[in-house]
Amino acid sequence: GRKFFVGGNWKCNGSVSKVDELVGVLNASNITSNTEVVVAPPSVYLHGVSQKLRGDVKVSAQDCWTGGNGAYTGETSADMLKDMGVGWCIIGHSERRQKGETNEECAVKAAYAQEHGLSVMGCIGESKEERESGSTMDVVIGQLKAYAASVKDWDKFVIAYEPVWAIGTGLTASPEQAQEVHEGLRKWVAENVSASVADKVRIIYGGSVNAGSAPTLGSKPDIDGFLVGGASLKPEFVEIVNAKD
Ligand code: 13P
Repeated sequence: GRKFFVGGNWKCNGSVSKVDELVGVLNASNITSNTEVVVAPPSVYLHGVSQKLRGDVKVSAQDCWTGGNGAYTGETSADMLKDMGVGWCIIGHSERRQKGETNEECAVKAAYAQEHGLSVMGCIGESKEERESGSTMDVVIGQLKAYAASVKDWDKFVIAYEPVWAIGTGLTASPEQAQEVHEGLRKWVAENVSASVADKVRIIYGGSVNAGSAPTLGSKPDIDGFLVGGASLKPEFVEIVNAKD
């Protein structure tokens, strides 16, 4: 079976004291060992979180730049992430794609991150217009296909399906809507990568997940966890992590 996976994407939120509070809540909570848990603080807080957070909750960056150390003002290298004990990165979040990141750039980032020892949550997802025009599967498969062309290590890749219309809107995809897309994605992986990868790859859902919606979404056969935004900044995150238990 696939281990349930819950990521918390803090996005550009927090402060020194808020981050301490979030780490304190996680450290004091009962977290099921049946779920793999990863939190993604803003890059400036990665080092502190990595040092203070309990060992069974892993730390992720929110992006990965495709270059090493050097004269690159403003960048954070994969080597720095590794050095801080950060083992994961989110790639291709829609909030970055909206700034112009293409499928191909996301794929290059994912491959680079893996080559430098990081595991990847690779995000995909259709917009409201794309869903309404019936092109959801074409869009998400196009995004997944780009990752698949460059990803070598599927043990270190989690597919995060995040419909753009569901992110930060309170409009969670229904369990049926999410399941339908996840099933289609897994089928594509089976036919275009391999049956064994399709069987083991985690496909997680993101978009307004909260403690109320998590249990039903998580009960669907192809929904292997969540990527949580807003609710990852609240104590409610622990309930989502334990939703499957
Ligand atoms: P919300 O949970 O705030 O909708 O955000 C989801 C998300 O974008 C996680 O990456």
